[in-house]
Amino acid sequence: MTTSSTDRKTRPIKVGNLTIGGGGITVQSMAATRTQDLEATLRQIEILESAGADLIRIAVDSKADVVALEKLCKATKVPISVDLQENYRLADAVGPFVQKVRYNPGHLHHHEKDKTAREKAHWIAAVAKKHGMAIRIGCNAGSLAPEYSERFPDDDVTALVEQAKDHCAYMDEVGFTDYLVSIKDSDPRLVIEANERFAAARPDVPLHLGVTEAGMPPDGIIKTRIAFEQLISQGIGDTIRVSLTVPFENKGQEIEVGRQILSDISKGRFRSVPKGFFDGLNIIACPSCSRVENEKFIELAEQVKEATAYAAEHDVTIAIMGCRVNGPGETDDADLGLWCGPTTVNLKKGTETLGSYPYSEVLPALLSELERIIAS
Ligand code: SF4
Repeated sequence: MTTSSTDRKTRPIKVGNLTIGGGGITVQSMAATRTQDLEATLRQIEILESAGADLIRIAVDSKADVVALEKLCKATKVPISVDLQENYRLADAVGPFVQKVRYNPGHLHHHEKDKTAREKAHWIAAVAKKHGMAIRIGCNAGSLAPEYSERFPDDDVTALVEQAKDHCAYMDEVGFTDYLVSIKDSDPRLVIEANERFAAARPDVPLHLGVTEAGMPPDGIIKTRIAFEQLISQGIGDTIRVSLTVPFENKGQEIEVGRQILSDISKGRFRSVPKGFFDGLNIIACPSCSRVENEKFIELAEQVKEATAYAAEHDVTIAIMGCRVNGPGETDDADLGLWCGPTTVNLKKGTETLGSYPYSEVLPALLSELERIIAS
C-alpha cells in the first residue's frame, strides 16, 4: 500500500513485491525487540503489519541473528529489510531471506581496514545483485565516516551529502541501480537542508526520509512532521520512517503517525510549528531497536523528560541512546548525553565521558550536571 504521490519522479526500485520511488510514498518501521527473541520479535512484526507497514526492518549484528532472521522471514508477509551497521559482512548471509539491506557508510571503516569504502560498497552491491536485494545507503550525522568529518569539520550537512553522493557513485560504477539513500539527524532543520541538497544533486535516486532519535511523543512527532511537511511538499521523499521512543507494544504508532502526516500533507493541511519550538530544553532519544542493551532505557528516557521539565526555558540538549553501536557517537553533539549499556548508563558532557552509573543512580548525576550547566 502506498500513500500520497509526489511530483518528483525518482527511479523506481523493487523491494520484493513493493516498489519504492517513481511516485507514491511507502511507510515503514523497525522492530525494536532483540532479533533472537523470536516470540517478542514476531509479536512486534505482527503489531507493525496490523498497523499497515509496507516494509519492516530488522537489525542483524551476528550469525545467531541470521539464524533467527530466517525463521522470522518465514512468518512474515511484508518485505523485510535488514539493518547492518558495523557487521556489513553479514550481507551475504542474510541475502537468501530478505528483500533489502541497509548499510551505513559511516560504519564501514571498523573492519577490513586494508580495504577502501569503495571496495566494500562494490562488494555489498555484488552481494545484493546476487540475491536480488535492494540497498539503502543509510547516512547519519552521528556516524559520519572519519574521512568526511575530517574534510568538513564544521559542516555536517555538506559532509553527509558528499558521503551519500560518493556511495551512489560507487553503486553506479558497478551498474547497480536498485538503491536508495537516507540522510538523517535528530534536528529536522538539518534533515531538511541535507535532503534538499542531495535531491538537487541526484534527482534520480529515491529517498528514505526520517528524523532519527526524534524522541517521545508529542515532541518526536512534531520534529518529524516539520521535516516531512517541508520535504514532501517539494516532492522529496519516496518512503518514510517515523522514529518514536515508545513502549514495544505501541510501535504501531510509528506507522499510524506516518500515514496521518502523509494524509494531512496530501490534503494541504500543514500544521504550523509551535512558536519557540526550537528554543529551550531539547530532549532527543533513539527510537530503540533490537540493539537496545537494557529495556529500562525507555523508562529512563521518560524519567529524564519528567525530571528535567523544570529546565524547559534553558537552551540545553540532552541525548539518550539505547546502545553502544550508535550511542557514543550520537551523544557527542549534545550538551549532556546518556548511552545505555546492559547494566550501567554512561553519562557524557559533549564528547567527554563523565562516568558510568547503575540505572537507578544515573538520574541524580545527570540532574547535577544539568544544574552546573544552567548555573554557568
Ligand atoms: S541507538 Fe542503538 S538501540 Fe537506539 S536505535 Fe540506534 S542502534 Fe538501536
